[in-house]
Amino acid sequence: MAESAKLQALFGGTFDPIHYGHLRPAETLADRLGLQKITLLPNNVPPHRPQPEASPAQRIKMISLAIAGNPLFDIDQRELQRQTPSWTIDTLIELRRERGERQPLGFIIGQDSLLTLHKWHRWQELLDYCHLLVCKRPGYAEKMSTPEQQSWLDTHRTEEISQLHHSPAGSVFLADTLLLPISATEIRERRRAGLSCEGVLPAEVIEWMDQQGLYPAQQ
Ligand code: ATP
Repeated sequence: MAESAKLQALFGGTFDPIHYGHLRPAETLADRLGLQKITLLPNNVPPHRPQPEASPAQRIKMISLAIAGNPLFDIDQRELQRQTPSWTIDTLIELRRERGERQPLGFIIGQDSLLTLHKWHRWQELLDYCHLLVCKRPGYAEKMSTPEQQSWLDTHRTEEISQLHHSPAGSVFLADTLLLPISATEIRERRRAGLSCEGVLPAEVIEWMDQQGLYPAQQ
């Protein structure tokens, strides 16, 4: 298969901060699907969520530290450079234009994001531009919450890895990734409570957060 025909993966998130719940499932997915690159896309002002606590520059720095020396990952900063909210659909349209009509593109999300996908801006168009690669996440239902959403999933779901590599977009792949009970919210809460976060995100990131006084312990 020509290099350009291989599935390229994108992974959007707030990454406030990035943690092993992002990195490990993404690595498993890469192994399973033969991905050579996963591009992390930190978002700016996620429209349906409270503002991140760390600044864009701090989130980028933490991602850079977390992926240093790991050639599987790189960062695309385009959403942070926009002044407007980051709608995934706009980014996908832009990436599709840049990478060409035939390039298979996969957008990685966790199960929690799949369950709330119907709240995303123009969600029904997402599969026109990419495949969705869904990682498991503990504590979230396996079924969609309405029959309509489940039927949408059943219609688009594929278990064929080759389909992800040979068609540019249109399928949902539910990956059998590690279940890691880690969230950025819990990391921020643990730090506020003065508790250790060892083992849930890379030590280099923890060290840097300490130096910066990021997510400080509250007295
Ligand atoms: P927060 O707790 O601040 O809401 P988060 O830990 O969910 O943050 P995000 O940056 O919002 O992290 O997540 C980006 C993407 O990564 C989302 O699609 C989310 O579903 C997925 N994700 C985050 N944590 C996990 C995890 N532990 N397992 C699987 N997927 C995850």
